[in-house]
Amino acid sequence: MSSFTNAVETGRATGRKALPGPILLLGAPGAGKGTQAKELVKLWGIPQISTGDLLRANVAQGTELGRTAKEIMGRGELVPDSLVNEMVAVRLQQPDTANGYILDGFPRTLPQAGWLDGRLATQTQALPVIAVSIHVDYNQLLRRVTGRRNCPVCQAIYNVYVNPPKRDGICDVEGAALVQRADDTEKVFEERMRAYEAMTAPVVEHYRDLGRFAEVDGDRSIGAIAAGIVAAVERMRE
Ligand code: AMP
Repeated sequence: MSSFTNAVETGRATGRKALPGPILLLGAPGAGKGTQAKELVKLWGIPQISTGDLLRANVAQGTELGRTAKEIMGRGELVPDSLVNEMVAVRLQQPDTANGYILDGFPRTLPQAGWLDGRLATQTQALPVIAVSIHVDYNQLLRRVTGRRNCPVCQAIYNVYVNPPKRDGICDVEGAALVQRADDTEKVFEERMRAYEAMTAPVVEHYRDLGRFAEVDGDRSIGAIAAGIVAAVERMRE
């Protein structure tokens, strides 16, 4: 166990403020942000806030936001900043975010990053944000996205090529039939990649310029990538 992980454990045991603080996971569609966020949740005990998951929950519940977002997401485009920022603002008011949180898939545009930076600047007791980008090459991303299957019950993420369930199409944990996201097709992936290059790549540069940034190689095992993220965060929190 690393000294950082030890410190987190100690912080938890003594009730001191835990250390991870706000972590941003950036990366193209299929880079493994959701998978890694779940690993970090287990390790650090802070919540994953996935704007994609929150939007999909709104779509499933048929809220006004969900009705607006559904078509946009289906085309692989980005939901307007004001709507996503508002959704994140509400989520960040929950008390479980007090010791930190992992923002998965947010910010995805420079205005979203500006909004988040401004918000954090008003919270003097908050640790500065650390952005981690997971890098994976295009062909690998395509394979991951088109092979991805999700458990609708426990949200576990599988991949038919590289991380298949024990029984074809069935969640190992829940026994539920796995589902494929509507936007995980090759055609929509291409549009999502266009949105990533045009809108999100500048966000990566923004955090790189601020010096609060690390890039990890996402073409490794889940455990090795998680260890790379922990090491990067540990370095920057020293
Ligand atoms: P994800 O689950 O992160 O791949 O997101 C799925 C889709 O939700 C994206 O293709 C966008 O349409 C939408 N979405 C998720 N996060 C954001 C965000 N931060 N800003 C705008 N749209 C988002």
